[in-house]
Amino acid sequence: MNSLRHAEGHYGGVRSMAAVNGKAMFPCPVCTQAREVRITKKDKPYLICDPCGVQVFVRGPAGIEEFRRLLQHTNTEGLLARLREMERLYRLACTQCGHEFWAEPKLIKTSVFDGGLKGFRCPKKNCDAIVPWEQTQ
Ligand SMILES: [Zn+2]
Ligand SMILES: [Zn+2]
Repeated sequence: MNSLRHAEGHYGGVRSMAAVNGKAMFPCPVCTQAREVRITKKDKPYLICDPCGVQVFVRGPAGIEEFRRLLQHTNTEGLLARLREMERLYRLACTQCGHEFWAEPKLIKTSVFDGGLKGFRCPKKNCDAIVPWEQTQ
């Protein structure tokens, strides 16, 4: 078991990974800020974003493999640019109250007539405005 780990090198020390100050970084899926990739005692990568209260654990062997590949082959800049692009597409602002939120599947409002996508319901309390999808394009 130990020999295998040695052959692959210690996770945090692999230089080809997207790294800031020698640490592997990965963007938080919610706020897209780069967060340090940490390793559990069982050698599983995870990241924590305190402001968002988000914890991302990669537990499955296939997922860990893919995660390491992502870290190795994407530089942080490119990844963040991609996430910013995603944010532009999926981040909505309510036309009624200005509340900003993510376009989540559970907020999808479909047309009662043809079942097509009408927009997203503002998740803010006491605001049921439907934010049209098109405005973000
Ligand atoms: Zn975050
Ligand atoms: Zn609203």
